[in-house]
Amino acid sequence: MTEPDAPPPGRWQSATVVRVTKETERAKTFRLMLPEVSRHLAGQHYVVRLTAADGYSASRSYSVASPPDESAYIELTVERLEDGEVSSYMHDVVVPGDQLEVRGPVGGWFVWRGDTPALLVGGGSGIVPLMAMLRLARRSGRCDLVRLVVSVRCPDELCYAEELPGPETTVVYTREAPSLGARPPGHLGEEDLRNALLSGATAYVCGSSGFADHVTGLLARLAVPAKRIRVERFGPTN
Ligand SMILES: Cc1cc2nc3c(=O)[nH]c(=O)nc-3n(C[C@H](O)[C@H](O)[C@H](O)COP(=O)(O)OP(=O)(O)OC[C@H]3O[C@@H](n4cnc5c(N)ncnc54)[C@H](O)[C@@H]3O)c2cc1C
Repeated sequence: MTEPDAPPPGRWQSATVVRVTKETERAKTFRLMLPEVSRHLAGQHYVVRLTAADGYSASRSYSVASPPDESAYIELTVERLEDGEVSSYMHDVVVPGDQLEVRGPVGGWFVWRGDTPALLVGGGSGIVPLMAMLRLARRSGRCDLVRLVVSVRCPDELCYAEELPGPETTVVYTREAPSLGARPPGHLGEEDLRNALLSGATAYVCGSSGFADHVTGLLARLAVPAKRIRVERFGPTN
């Protein structure tokens, strides 16, 4: 039996939530089963649409954390915002067995195909699409091509904490570091990136607008050409 092609991103599909995993106090990973194989690339996202009984609906984008694997399963990691319409619903209401309306995969620019040097820099939940890239690199035995630097406030806020460690990953803690001897807490700096910058790498930067601006400034100081910097901003623009 041949598998059907993935639908174009314009079409809404009903996905089944098959597992919900707590990553941190504020982040959960939702494993979804789509009606058809997902042909997403590392870095792409899906749009999730919630519709109330009165017809009101809200849509938000969520990056795919799982690597491309030619299966009908995708994983989305959602950070809960206190007053967030969609993220708080996902956290407080959605359970395995529920159906979610999704559309995707979306995005063609913030994509890593697994065959070129890449510097992945994430702030907070900005790690999600970068995790798909790291997982792709590990799965295909090309960790030599990637370096991932993730910035979080404290150890409790680090997603994928058990899976993340490796010679190709660095965690920068801005407020509270895990133990004595580790890098002292502080904002991500030029040195953190210089050490991870492979020759000819394209930088993939993901996080809040403020984080993205900070990191692109550091990359400019490290003489990374603008054409080799790709940015995905998660938060509000002002
Ligand atoms: C391409 C793309 C991929 C994304 N991938 C992910 C992902 O993998 N995981 C994830 O958790 N989020 C991701 N986001 C952010 C996500 O789409 C929502 O913006 C976020 O979940 C907030 O939606 P909400 O309905 O809960 O909050 P809203 O009701 O929209 O907003 C509530 C309040 O929070 C502010 N706000 C909105 N978004 C953010 C934010 N990201 N950070 C801080 N404050 C915010 C709003 O200004 C408002 O004051 C992505 C965004 C984009 C554009």
